[in-house]
Amino acid sequence: TYYPRNLLVTGGCGFIGSNFIRLLLENHLELLPELHIFNLDKLTYAGNPENLAEVESHPRYHFIQGDITDSTVVEQIFQERQIDTVINFAAESHVDRSILDSTPFVQTNINGTQVLLDASRRENVERFLQVSTDEVYGSLGDEGFFTEETPLAPNSPYSASKAAADLLVRSYCHTFEFPAIITRCSNNYGPYQFPEKLLPLFIANAQENESLPVYGDGKNVRDWIHVSDHCRGILAALQSGKTGEIYNFGGCCEMQNIRLTELLLEILEKPKSLIKYVKDRPGHDRRYAIDCSKAERDLDWKPEVDFEFGLRETVAWYLSNKKWIDRIRSGEYREYYQQQYRQD
Ligand code: NAD
Repeated sequence: TYYPRNLLVTGGCGFIGSNFIRLLLENHLELLPELHIFNLDKLTYAGNPENLAEVESHPRYHFIQGDITDSTVVEQIFQERQIDTVINFAAESHVDRSILDSTPFVQTNINGTQVLLDASRRENVERFLQVSTDEVYGSLGDEGFFTEETPLAPNSPYSASKAAADLLVRSYCHTFEFPAIITRCSNNYGPYQFPEKLLPLFIANAQENESLPVYGDGKNVRDWIHVSDHCRGILAALQSGKTGEIYNFGGCCEMQNIRLTELLLEILEKPKSLIKYVKDRPGHDRRYAIDCSKAERDLDWKPEVDFEFGLRETVAWYLSNKKWIDRIRSGEYREYYQQQYRQD
């Protein structure tokens, strides 16, 4: 078992990173007695330090605002904080935005990963975990699953930039015996997801009796996993995974977008008439489904949150944190950081 000490988490103010940091600080410190977490986040539109408000004064948590593409900043953190472990969550993550402009996707997802890899190599980091996505495998027909051996065939600028980063990581393992692990996960749901993504967007719209825009015929299939199951998987891969390996995580829960939308409306007790079919996303992948038997076998991990239970809990979270959504939707959340840190 590997025990991280000075852990650099990038993109920790986003959806998954903030859930991961909370998981470590709230549930795992006893087993990780030397752990200090350094969260490097640029605070793009998707980064919200309010996601970590409950832990921001925790003695083991340290926030640094900065950009992973800035090698000077990154190098300085590695040296000053004696970083031994890196988990790279930082990314531009929204497919629709990558279709509008892929520039920040190439910069952060590819160049940023390269900067982190080089700094990690120079400073002899012991473990580097690259958080990737099942979207690098492309799209499936009605049958079959993505395994770790499925060839990469990304279809969107977002997934292409993630695949490029994965290949860089792979090449560093091969060329330099660099101790990296790649994890690839399916669609996450849960608290603190930025409300441009399907589930929080639909929950917020339905609450306001606004329509829910469903792409195409609504029959695109995604494999949903609760963010807490993904975060447990990342920790398991970091501590028990083998360097040079890839691990897939999925929720074993395939669902058509339209079925998910109907289920949401049922939970929210809103009418199906809110569903509005809209023009399909260009190049929209049809189906993703993950075979995660390697992670189950080698990491002793499996998804634990029942989908319908997790979905109800997630809906309840968004309904009782309406202010969180409203502040994001109005842009007010940006002031949070300035208020919190105004003293310096
Ligand atoms: P997110 O968009 O919610 O968060 C991304 C975070 O990265 C934000 O806090 C943002 O400020 C930060 N960031 C962006 N550019 C940066 C830069 N140049 N330097 C420093 N920080 C920067 O994304 P998420 O949904 O939490 O996804 C996290 C990671 O997990 C991504 O790498 C994504 O590709 C991957 N992933 C996501 C899903 C999913 O369903 N959301 C599934 C599989 C994999």
